[in-house]
Amino acid sequence: MYEVTSVKEVKVCLLGESGVGKSSIVLRFVSDTFKQGLEMTIGASFMTKTLVVDQQTVKFQIWDTAGQERYRALAPMYYRGASAAIIVYDVTKRDTFDAVKGWVRELANYGPKDIIIALAGNKSDLEDLREVTKKEAAQYAEQIQAIFIETSAKNDSGIKELFTRIISRLPADFSGKPK
Ligand code: GDP
Repeated sequence: MYEVTSVKEVKVCLLGESGVGKSSIVLRFVSDTFKQGLEMTIGASFMTKTLVVDQQTVKFQIWDTAGQERYRALAPMYYRGASAAIIVYDVTKRDTFDAVKGWVRELANYGPKDIIIALAGNKSDLEDLREVTKKEAAQYAEQIQAIFIETSAKNDSGIKELFTRIISRLPADFSGKPK
């Protein structure tokens, strides 16, 4: 007798203004298993990373914008089959936090229904330059029922926890295949 353990495949999309650290977060998270896929037609790329948490094996497919966020919108295909979206802002740049609302609207318009949203306040290592308090960001996240965490891609702080918390929000009957 042996047990067959299923692998859950979870597509995650990164959103947020240019320069907030999206690519750095992805690179930090996947750095020990670097793999890259390219989807030339929509100008975005993804990397994969497998995590084993509570005897569940989760294979993340993490999509980054490849700079397309400069046009303030992403192709609807970018979101197709996504279980979660991470909206990143820079804690040292208020305008990147103000822009989060726009990304939430974009998700409501183009993202899958019931997508898990995580708000990540990146560059938390730059405490002296902080323009956005943890409290106001946490309040906003609560309002939109999003996961909230501050991260530092530089110091490797909060990043594994960000993805672990996404796993804990997956529905109990999550089938483990991108839709
Ligand atoms: P993207 O445009 O959102 O993908 O942002 P990048 O990942 O290219 O990062 C933009 C800049 O911010 C780069 O110079 C990074 O080195 C820097 N950066 C990213 N994350 C952090 C962080 O956590 N702390 C600090 N101090 N700098 C960061």
